[in-house]
Amino acid sequence: MPELPEVETMVRGLRPVLEGRRVERMDLHDPSMLRGCEAREFGRLGRGVDVIEVRRRGKWVVIGLADHRGLIVIQPRMTGGFWLVEPSRMEHVRLSIRLASPGGIVWFCDARRLGRIEWFADQAAAEGAFARSHGPDALAITAEELAARLKTTRRGIKPALMDQKVLAGIGNIYADEVLHASGIHPQRVASRLTREEYARLHAAIGRVLAVAIEAEGSSFDAGYRTVLGLEGGFLAMNSAYGRAGEPCRTCGGPIQKTKIPGLIGRPTYLCPACQPRGRRRPARGII
Ligand SMILES: [Zn+2]
Repeated sequence: MPELPEVETMVRGLRPVLEGRRVERMDLHDPSMLRGCEAREFGRLGRGVDVIEVRRRGKWVVIGLADHRGLIVIQPRMTGGFWLVEPSRMEHVRLSIRLASPGGIVWFCDARRLGRIEWFADQAAAEGAFARSHGPDALAITAEELAARLKTTRRGIKPALMDQKVLAGIGNIYADEVLHASGIHPQRVASRLTREEYARLHAAIGRVLAVAIEAEGSSFDAGYRTVLGLEGGFLAMNSAYGRAGEPCRTCGGPIQKTKIPGLIGRPTYLCPACQPRGRRRPARGII
């Protein structure tokens, strides 16, 4: 499932190709994924229009159109992704953006069709929709705001970090990495961390996400690829996720794979020595 680093990687790949370019037309191959307007209207809005900007908002890809034609927000969700090279599975193409001279096509594919393509009339409408379902972006939230938001929930710290209403962008992989880098057990009560732990957590979020963006995200299965069809490199250098039984990069002890309440069906990886349940101990991984 694409998290903030994967979506940021998509945006960075799309920006040089789309920004300032003229779209000849947009072909919607699966109108059931469209929200905010009718398919015919979508076709009209996407015909002969310049792209003003491409940016990320949480796990949303936002494409701003000129001539007051609004914004297209694409949520990759579970299996969505963009391709600048011909997709490996053409039957998964849900939207093609055809560029005017000198040409080119940007494909949006989604194997399980759980993503969403949504049109908003303007910036305020899109921001309003985002604010109703999301907290601040994980890369923009301040240490004070993060602590204030976590202090209000008695859930475990891991599910709280993954709650998009608390902060936007972190999912299962990066929650494990951030908690390992902070030396905090994923089942600690979110509201009961110390001030120093909140600060450590905030610093780790920025650090882990920056490294993951630099590595172009995480490909743990066939799901996520960069816009050029390549695998992200983060899982070759990470500390916790997917490393069951392998030595912790901080203490050398085995990384444990477990399940924690509040996260049905999703694994959690931690180092029991560096992330004790009862008391805190700082961990210093490679990131
Ligand atoms: Zn350890």
